[in-house]
Amino acid sequence: MNIHEYQAKALLKSYGAPVAEGVAIFSAAEAEAAAKQLPGPLYVVKSQIHAGGRGKGKFKELSADAKGGVRLAFSIDEAKAHAKDMLGNTLVTAQTGPAGKQVNRLYIEDGADIDRELYLSLLVDRSVGQVAFVVSTEGGMDIEAVAHDTPEKIVNVAINPEAGVTAADLAKLTSALKLEGEAKSDAEKLFPILYKAFVEKDMSLLEINPLIVMKNGRVRVLDAKVSFDGNALFRHDDIKALRDETEEDAKEIEASKWDLAYVALDGNIGCMVNGAGLAMATMDIIKLYGKEPANFCDVGGGAGKEKVAAAFKIITADPKVEGILVNIFGGIMKCDVIAEGVVAAVQEVGLKVPLVVRLEGTNVELGKKILNESGLAITAADDLDDAAKKIVAAING
Ligand code: GDP
Ligand code: MG
Repeated sequence: MNIHEYQAKALLKSYGAPVAEGVAIFSAAEAEAAAKQLPGPLYVVKSQIHAGGRGKGKFKELSADAKGGVRLAFSIDEAKAHAKDMLGNTLVTAQTGPAGKQVNRLYIEDGADIDRELYLSLLVDRSVGQVAFVVSTEGGMDIEAVAHDTPEKIVNVAINPEAGVTAADLAKLTSALKLEGEAKSDAEKLFPILYKAFVEKDMSLLEINPLIVMKNGRVRVLDAKVSFDGNALFRHDDIKALRDETEEDAKEIEASKWDLAYVALDGNIGCMVNGAGLAMATMDIIKLYGKEPANFCDVGGGAGKEKVAAAFKIITADPKVEGILVNIFGGIMKCDVIAEGVVAAVQEVGLKVPLVVRLEGTNVELGKKILNESGLAITAADDLDDAAKKIVAAING
């Protein structure tokens, strides 16, 4: 689960991290009162969407030379004008995809006088099984280009979970970031705080780009992007409360209500599977035969008929879906339950596109019987290869 920048900053502030004062607003009418709470004379008006690259983003509704989604304002009037310009419009950034995201919230912040922009993130480094800091002196808006062109400028420091952030780790980090004087001591306080927040709140990513050194020599968290491990949310009601469903795919929200793993993709074959490995294999074989998956929905192990029906409805709700491939290997999951769920869903919402079903495993004969006797236009397949060929052929007409 992702949260907005202003929420991430409030969370980090509660751990003691240095962030600017700021006020979140939902309408342009609130801009003046918000800015008046800040010291000025420099304000930053920041679009709050669950995507980065806002500074270099473009608004669909505004002219091509209009400013991006993060703007400096040198007066309260200018902050108001930016707020009016941005709210309600669609911001397209390198991370939103071409459709962009509507800006429904802004964060108005006290502006900083920047000397250096650094990059810092915390993530779970699976290669060593530890939380790691990733830092670079080349922070700001183009870290992807730095990673691509000059990877040696990115330094990775993994943290031993038993020791926590040690003096040696801090020395590596501050040296990699070329921090000195007050900035160095600020960073030595900040990094263990970030690590603590990351671990305690079960984050999967904490990205601060940029972490800045200000002209006055102090360090500040200027941007913050945080993702949490969805599997740990049950123990963080405070984090769950920050969820902004308007930022999420409606079908993914519906899927999460049913505890289904649903992922929206760009192609036109909808996939219902059980198990992540089978999902990957199904998508691979669809690509092998020249098509792309529109999504996949993993119904997991112990799903009942209602859950299977919900999964089927979520898949068919996507207008991009021109055909559906159900690929189930029944182990704990029983093929007859899958068949009943599919039939129930089709009876309720109808079937407007070709449907190919490949069932194997527990109760497969009963499952096939239910599908055959349903009277629905379902194409049965014998194995994965046959199933992929049949759905691709059906779509190609
Ligand atoms: P992003 O584009 O979505 O990553 O948004 P950021 O919060 O990182 O802001 C983009 C850029 O705006 C930063 O890299 C800074 O160069 C600039 N910026 C943001 N806040 C301030 C500020 O307080 N003062 C100044 N001078 N620039 C800022
Ligand atoms: Mg940034």
